[in-house]
Amino acid sequence: MKRYSRIDRRAVLKLGAGAVVSLLSGFVFSADKALRVARTPKQTEGPFYPLQDQTDKDANLVQIIGQQGEAAGDRIEVRGRVLDERGSPVPGVLVEIWHANKWGRYDHQRDRNSAPLDPNFQGWGQRLSGEDGGYSFQTIFPGIYPAAPDWKRPPHIHFKLTQRGFHRLTTQMYFPGQELNARDLLLQRLPPAEQTLLIAKAEDVQQLNGQAVARYIFDIVLR
Ligand code: FE
Repeated sequence: MKRYSRIDRRAVLKLGAGAVVSLLSGFVFSADKALRVARTPKQTEGPFYPLQDQTDKDANLVQIIGQQGEAAGDRIEVRGRVLDERGSPVPGVLVEIWHANKWGRYDHQRDRNSAPLDPNFQGWGQRLSGEDGGYSFQTIFPGIYPAAPDWKRPPHIHFKLTQRGFHRLTTQMYFPGQELNARDLLLQRLPPAEQTLLIAKAEDVQQLNGQAVARYIFDIVLR
């Protein structure tokens, strides 16, 4: 009886030690992994999230289905991957973007900017992240617009991510090398390291159907 209990105790102690070791290594492992990929900071949705549904909200904002013309402005492609904090892809996330047209105007009733509307600019697009977490949009370089008399918003794209109807993240993507980034009240609210996470990386310009398309990479890391 005594012997058995001693063995049991030893076994339990051994098991306990093993559990502690595996727990610790698990913690170190996950802490290490968590440190590897910084979470994308959230930002305000702003006043211009589309209010009315539109027939065409696909991933090509340059062309509205059924219309001849193309959106005015410099063509860009925005692509990236939706990841978790361990760097693993998150498929099946609805990625929505909306942004101002070439002249800095949103097709939205709350936008009082006198800049012209662009009847060929789709303004709003949606796309599900793929198996590799990847997404991409064809659009135009967004214009600058006044948010207040002494505050001009740098070019930016609004992002909203939802997964099976659950909200995951709302944020804004900025462009590298933009002077206004350093004076933007929303971007400057974040510590410098977090600002960097919201500025897309410029890739080489590509030719698409005889048009130059600048490509920007924006990976999004969810909590
Ligand atoms: Fe905006």
